[in-house]
Amino acid sequence: MTEKLTTHCLGFPRIGANRELKKALESYWAGQIGEDALLASAKELRKRHWLLQKEAGIDLIPSNDFSLYDQMLDTSCILGVVPERIAKEGLNTLDTYFATARGTAKAPACAMTKWFDTNYHYIVPELDRDTRFSLSSNKPVGEFLEALELGIRTTPVIIGPVTYLSLSSCAVEAFERMDLLERLLPVYEKLLRRLKDAGATSVQFDEPIFSCDISAAQKTAISRSYEMLKSAAPCLKLIVCNYFGSMGPSLDLFASLPVHALHIDLTKAPQELLPLVEALRKKDTHLSLGLVDGRNIWRCDTAKAAQAIDKAAAVLGTERIIVATSCSLLHVPVSLTSESELKPDVKARMAFAEEKLLELKALGQNRHDAAKSATASARKAPSPSLRLATIGEADLSRALPRVQRLALQRKSLGLPPIPTTTIGSFPQTKEVRANRAAFKKGDIDSEQYEAFIRSEIEHCIRIQEKAGLDVLVHGEFERNDMVEYFSEQLDGILFTQNGWVQSYGSRCVKPPVIHGEVTRRGPMTLKWTQYAQSLSNSHVKGMLTGPITILKWSFPRNDQPLRTTAFEIALALREEVRDLEDAGTKIIQIDEPGLREGLPLRGSEAAAYLEWAVDAFRLASGGASPQTQIHTHMCYARFDGIIDAVNRLDADVISIEAARSTADRLEAFAADNYGGEVGPGVWDIHSPRVPPVAEMKDKLLEASAIIGTDRLWANPDCGLKTRRWEEVIPALENLVTAAKDARSKLALG
Ligand code: GLN
Ligand code: ZN
Repeated sequence: MTEKLTTHCLGFPRIGANRELKKALESYWAGQIGEDALLASAKELRKRHWLLQKEAGIDLIPSNDFSLYDQMLDTSCILGVVPERIAKEGLNTLDTYFATARGTAKAPACAMTKWFDTNYHYIVPELDRDTRFSLSSNKPVGEFLEALELGIRTTPVIIGPVTYLSLSSCAVEAFERMDLLERLLPVYEKLLRRLKDAGATSVQFDEPIFSCDISAAQKTAISRSYEMLKSAAPCLKLIVCNYFGSMGPSLDLFASLPVHALHIDLTKAPQELLPLVEALRKKDTHLSLGLVDGRNIWRCDTAKAAQAIDKAAAVLGTERIIVATSCSLLHVPVSLTSESELKPDVKARMAFAEEKLLELKALGQNRHDAAKSATASARKAPSPSLRLATIGEADLSRALPRVQRLALQRKSLGLPPIPTTTIGSFPQTKEVRANRAAFKKGDIDSEQYEAFIRSEIEHCIRIQEKAGLDVLVHGEFERNDMVEYFSEQLDGILFTQNGWVQSYGSRCVKPPVIHGEVTRRGPMTLKWTQYAQSLSNSHVKGMLTGPITILKWSFPRNDQPLRTTAFEIALALREEVRDLEDAGTKIIQIDEPGLREGLPLRGSEAAAYLEWAVDAFRLASGGASPQTQIHTHMCYARFDGIIDAVNRLDADVISIEAARSTADRLEAFAADNYGGEVGPGVWDIHSPRVPPVAEMKDKLLEASAIIGTDRLWANPDCGLKTRRWEEVIPALENLVTAAKDARSKLALG
């Protein structure tokens, strides 16, 4: 006889199965619908999602997990944290909320950054030493009551005080953010009492900051917070949740919290189950086991899950065990039902949010039955590839060391000092998008579409020649997205029809699904690069997306190590590099903006990740001949802690984002640290502003003082796809003049 277990969903996607929230938000911002209509569709979505969870028999159903834009922004509003410049605009509450996220003509928005190691972005709270907090929104209570009216007593979800403070930015001067805790806690206490008065019996506090390296001040703040919150509402059952990573050295602190239940993410930290269970043995804390993966779209391995439950239950007793999603389901699409084109064997292995609720239900009702009935297809045995088995150190290395390669390339490429180039993409105009859409819909045939792309490439080449750039690109007009373009052409990767996931606000992405061994069907970029090269005597750079970026922006396999998948992608790219070389391409760029994003949350795990991530890049590029110049590109300026790994990529040239940041960021690339050539961005492409010659020249001179003139390139921060031709043409002309001026100032030819 298997006892029933309590089931717990940490959060549900709010965007809607058909992106209803996106549509409502964008209509509201465009002035097509009013506030009432927007709020009505939001309410409808909440209702639908609560009922779904109720029907699935979930015991702990979340509320306040819904958000019109972002849950961190909601928390700021609840706590009364609105930047002065936005408050001054005198907008109503809802528009102040959106203005904080999106800015107004006069007041810039708050910064947005990645939520831990996910591809979801949150709005960063702006705090300073003097910030005061006050309970300023009734949202958690309002949504709790809304669900109660439907007969559902939900568990309100609130971002924990320490995670909230830790993720804020200090606008004016650096200070210990934990110093604000004493002012913050009374607001949390007040909120808890209001929730209790409204009829709540349990409250979930999300503290994923436990997955990061935390300071002594943060630890003290955590203990203090939960002691205070516990005594503020002794009869409320508090559930503190960590997810996204292991707790490492903070596990004992976590286990010691005086709350009703703790939540652990067993998809990310299975090794911590037993230590945590041991630490709880003599207490009466309940344990929520995050077994159903909220970050990936694969079905739960119910046999493994049942084992984990049994182990924990053996020590704690089943009445103290809760089965749960690993984190909020925010990071997976809503429903598999509309996916009619997936291959049945792959679809049988997948679960989106709705299907994950059913997995939870099955685990909760009878985990042993669930484990038995898990179909064989849900667990596909990994197939270690023969091709990978034979990879050795030699495959990861270029034939000559970088200094020697650069000397050879200097001779054969014939480039001037401080060569000028761009990062790859050129304006994706309405026309480009319309033609792609028409082609996808079948309104134009491939001949017409290709003729259009060729004419765009030709136009782009002529513009670059006219501007006087040294290394040209074809412009990436055939690509909608740098990952999607490659994924569509690789076997082992598929696209869903409706698998949208919120990226930020109303923005959603549809990540590719890596479901099998990744192999290349044939050349992916050759045709367009060759065509562009045929139009010009200048070098045209080949343009590839790197293995880590493809991996990081997809739903990866979970039945083999990420490293294996990265290597499979790398091998496919290696073949592409060879084809490009054979066709006469002398310069090939492999973009890796995802490299830093992939860093684990805990510092001690970084080295192991960087080891294989860098190896994957080296596998992709290592087959290139010494004369072929390999570039890479990363869209950020901070390289602290990873510069050795970036150096070990062994790219000949790297371009980075640097226009907005100060020169001290470039120190990482000084000759003692870094051996390749460097193109610091001198044009901030996130702004429509055309940078004047003198400004870019000064940035180049500043950079040359740090990295040396012989290793310096001149380029924008990133690709130009979001800019308009009206900005791009003068800016490129200025860039070329700036490089010329810098050369003569430095007396370089
Ligand atoms: N080559 C890509 C482009 O220019 C690089 C984009 C990126 O780094 N995010 O658009
Ligand atoms: Zn970039």
